Amino acid sequence: MSKRVLVTGGAGFIGSHLCERLLTEGAEVTALDDLSTGSIENLHGIKDNSRFSFVQGSVCDVELVDRLAKESDDIYHLAAAVGVQLIVDEPVRTIETNIHGSENVLHAAARNEARVLIASTSEVYGKSENVPFREDDDMLLGSTRFSRWSYACSKAVDEFLAFAFYQKYGLEVIVARFFNTIGPRQRGRYGMVVPRFVKAALNNEPVTIYGSGKQTRCFTYISDVIDGVIALMQCPDAAGEAFNIGSQSEISIESLADAAIRLSKSSSEKKYISYEQAYGRPFDDMMRRVPSIEKAAAMIGYSPKVSLEEAIV
Ligand code: NAD
Repeated sequence: MSKRVLVTGGAGFIGSHLCERLLTEGAEVTALDDLSTGSIENLHGIKDNSRFSFVQGSVCDVELVDRLAKESDDIYHLAAAVGVQLIVDEPVRTIETNIHGSENVLHAAARNEARVLIASTSEVYGKSENVPFREDDDMLLGSTRFSRWSYACSKAVDEFLAFAFYQKYGLEVIVARFFNTIGPRQRGRYGMVVPRFVKAALNNEPVTIYGSGKQTRCFTYISDVIDGVIALMQCPDAAGEAFNIGSQSEISIESLADAAIRLSKSSSEKKYISYEQAYGRPFDDMMRRVPSIEKAAAMIGYSPKVSLEEAIV
């Protein structure tokens, strides 16, 4: 791959793995990140690669993003306000960063004829329990005005914006909806559930479950997400479309806690607290989130490979 690629949010969990893979495949890679939740340590393995550069700055900086887009063939737009505690505490920042940042990236890509992949989320399906979720399902079903929905709503607006740029300017833009990605470097400054459970289990401390623990998620290993986004970016027919990218293997949070305790050979006990105790505010969770991946399978042969057990150990 002899491409020049910009990865916004490149010092984050998913972004840093994406930068690594793109470098392995021969691309010239620039990571743009304001280090708000990401970390320079995530780039430790690639910082000395002559085809890699890091720029500290914001996706909301119009001139900076325009300059970087001018030097890029492809843009993976991953920078966003992320993490349940952050989005609950900072709903205004979440909406502003996610919408202004995406709008800015889309304008810069259109001006400079770059191809763009926008990172979206399973949360755009709202509280739907009509699983598996298909890409043409209704969005934001049953969501309320709790600050918990700031993230989902802003990502849904990002998607509409992306498709408006596709229709109006012919911008080659792809939307990838991720489902609970896990793997190394997911540090959980804002409380990601898998690293939090594994850390507690390894320390033989109580593994704390928020809510009933009956809510389910489909955890997807990072390499399966990276495979998906790179294949989508390279697929000409993917432009103007949204794709679910995730595992279909569903597990309850309670069973996840059991698995973390078992696989860590831990003596931890499970402990249950309410969402209000956990987040300090009312919280409106969704019970199930399972992707249909038929569309990505048909377009790019998408098929996640790593199981949850393999991912945890
Ligand atoms: P992350 O917090 O590790 O990465 C986000 C990165 O964006 C961080 O490095 C952060 O510093 C950076 N950032 C935030 N605001 C910025 C700004 N204004 N300018 C520049 N950089 C900024 O989280 P992640 O899990 O790697 O998420 C990456 C993307 O994937 C996000 O768009 C997120 O919404 C999406 N996503 C992730 C998951 C998941 O399970 N991890 C699920 C669905 C969607």
